[in-house]
Amino acid sequence: MNKITKQNDKLLVPDKVTIPFIEGDGVGAEITPVCQSIVNSAIKKAYNGKREILWKEVLAGEKAFNLTGNWLPEDTMEAFREYLVGIKGPLTTPIGGGIRSLNVALRQELDLYVCLRPVRWFKGVVSPVKEPQKVDMFIFRENTEDIYAGIEWQQGTPEAAKFLKFLTEEMGVKKVRFPETSSFGVKPVSVEGTQRLVRSAIEFAITNKLPSVTLVHKGNIMKFTEGGFKLWGYAVAENEFAAQTFTMPQYDTIKKNEGEAAANKALENAVKEGRVIIKDVIADAFLQNTLLIPEEYSVIATLNLNGDYISDQLAAMVGGIGIAPGANINYQTGHAIFEATHGTAPGIAGKNVVNPSSLLLSSVMLLEYIGWNEAAKLIVDAMESAFEKGEATHDLARFMDKGKTLSTTEFRNCINQLI
Ligand code: NAD
Repeated sequence: MNKITKQNDKLLVPDKVTIPFIEGDGVGAEITPVCQSIVNSAIKKAYNGKREILWKEVLAGEKAFNLTGNWLPEDTMEAFREYLVGIKGPLTTPIGGGIRSLNVALRQELDLYVCLRPVRWFKGVVSPVKEPQKVDMFIFRENTEDIYAGIEWQQGTPEAAKFLKFLTEEMGVKKVRFPETSSFGVKPVSVEGTQRLVRSAIEFAITNKLPSVTLVHKGNIMKFTEGGFKLWGYAVAENEFAAQTFTMPQYDTIKKNEGEAAANKALENAVKEGRVIIKDVIADAFLQNTLLIPEEYSVIATLNLNGDYISDQLAAMVGGIGIAPGANINYQTGHAIFEATHGTAPGIAGKNVVNPSSLLLSSVMLLEYIGWNEAAKLIVDAMESAFEKGEATHDLARFMDKGKTLSTTEFRNCINQLI
């Protein structure tokens, strides 16, 4: 009844919608209720009581383990499967036991292949770069493949020896510099995995009227994996979004056949027509460019490991490493889990000092994902005013010119008043 469903590529969201949430370990117990209070205020203000989120707690992490003996109960998985969209606080990584990481287990179970991280600057937040306002990007990091898939063998084990034997005897590989003492990892990058990630990035750019999608890769060195990502990514644009995009390979073809002036004209026309420009850049050059010409980039589509580095560098550039939001999404099924990107911060848990902004901005992403943009905007506007006045939790306020440190609950009250 109160469930989100997906029909014909569209999410159908009832006015009273159930959203499952994991409170989270450590500071989770503080940031989760604070965010729910703010989200509830914004929805009430935006829709006069017509719309409402019915929060449904599901268990994971320490709380789940203490209550049920299970780190990730099946009921929790079932709720995320059934209700499509959910949110979670940070979770302790269990030590010992069968689960490597609860976050990874959730992502794998629902095949959440996009890790989406929007990066923007809030006026007032202190940043290490001169013009942080120029950073306004959406990182689409592939979440299921790459060297991150966890297919690796430790040096000295029979498995590593077996893999080495296969490499040398069956594949004729002679390039392993120190064969007897090497660990090995495998880097799978597939056509489908690339296509679905790049397709999601292009659709996001079209829907949000963003100027470009940049494929970030190391295809100059890893030709079949990262190079494949680039080729297959461009093919998605040209085969599936011909009318809405203009790609740099198309630019190069025009340049070769008709000259540079014609290619520039075609690019100019494409921009005028509002087409999304699809380009690519080598990952190391991209990291330099983010510092030198960040305004050239909007949506970023990249592989798993590159995406990990890029997310942290860009978040640091806007001073937002502690307030960066994130989501893991499967745009085909509609499943999405929004999350705080930081950990459980055990050192400050229970002290009413934690900054709830990461989970709050992830809640904003959730509201936008379900199309409740008016409520989302009220929260962002309120955060902008608070930060501009220097009103923030200790982690941010201590660096601000006229910073005024608020406790977590004071920050909640401040945002609720501004909404
Ligand atoms: P952490 O993010 O918890 O803390 C790193 C530092 O940042 C600490 O000094 C902490 O006090 C500070 N910090 C983090 N979030 C903050 C906030 N919202 N406001 C103010 N200060 C904040 O990382 P960690 O210490 O490496 O990890 C602690 C635990 O969290 C580990 O069990 C780890 O596995 C887990 N973890 C979970 C997630 C997740 O669930 N997404 C992510 C990272 C780490």
